[in-house]
Amino acid sequence: MTRILAPSHAMGTILDGKAIAERIKEDLTRELASLKQRPRLTIMSFLTPASELYLKAQEAQATSLGIETSGSYCLPPDITQEEVERVIQRCNADPAVHGIFVHQPLPPHIDPQRVSALIDPRKDIEGIHPQNSARRFFARARIGSCTALAVMELIESTGVDLAGKEAVVIGHSEIVGRPVSMLLLDKLATTTVCHVATKDLKRHVNRADVLVVAAGRPHLIKGSWIKPGAIVIDVGINVVNGRVVGDVEFETAKQRAAFISPVPGGVGPVTVMMVMKNTVEAFKLQQRDGHG
Ligand code: NAD
Repeated sequence: MTRILAPSHAMGTILDGKAIAERIKEDLTRELASLKQRPRLTIMSFLTPASELYLKAQEAQATSLGIETSGSYCLPPDITQEEVERVIQRCNADPAVHGIFVHQPLPPHIDPQRVSALIDPRKDIEGIHPQNSARRFFARARIGSCTALAVMELIESTGVDLAGKEAVVIGHSEIVGRPVSMLLLDKLATTTVCHVATKDLKRHVNRADVLVVAAGRPHLIKGSWIKPGAIVIDVGINVVNGRVVGDVEFETAKQRAAFISPVPGGVGPVTVMMVMKNTVEAFKLQQRDGHG
């Protein structure tokens, strides 16, 4: 794996998500050139400012790679469960759609588990269908969570072997915390998952060789808690006074960490590229197995 590291003035090396995303894009461009057909990704986004930004970033990368997204949906936040399910069923049945990506969080009245279970598992770009979650549990995932895969790309870019390392994940959501913890276990890291009910977060953070934070709480993790020499991956995206910040106090944390991902410019751009990579993987699966 190529190490893509941007030097920083303080102790920690800043993990450059944009550079890592570009490297993945170069590989994908080559792969797409060898395909006879252009994969099509349908994105279902609910009209919120965060979702619109994510949709724009996904569409821009897809267009530059030659992945079709023209049939994507911007759904009104008051859409009914039945209407969401009808859209998914239409995409499932359409052989021209190879990937389905539903933006999270869903509006509060939409049942996320019914949505996950309805997506054709071969088109499930976020790896949320129960079949795909089960495969991840047994370390046999064919399509994994885009954010969790992005976290692992950033960690792997450091070149550090995870076997036997203390890994601490803050957050236990289905799209980030849980899949990341499974992937860390697959690498033989000794993995602890913390969440909103964890007592003494500082104690757990303080012993982490690898720290992944996905809580969605601005500056929850104080720089002084970081173990010297740790790898720190900040997944959080929070808007504070019009500025995007992560869950980690970056300036103080980078004095102690060996490697740290910034927000913005860390996990985010790699996640968008993993959506593209998973779309290509889904396309290849369907070419091999056929449509349902
Ligand atoms: P979520 O709300 O589903 O889960 C949050 C998790 O954090 C839960 O497990 C909760 O128990 C835990 N938590 C909340 N407050 C805590 C506290 N005070 N102490 C310890 N744990 C606490 O969120 P999510 O969907 O997993 O997303 C998490 C963050 O990651 C959000 O900021 C989201 O915007 C961001 N995100 C970023 C990307 C990306 O590509 N960069 C992708 C997905 C999500």
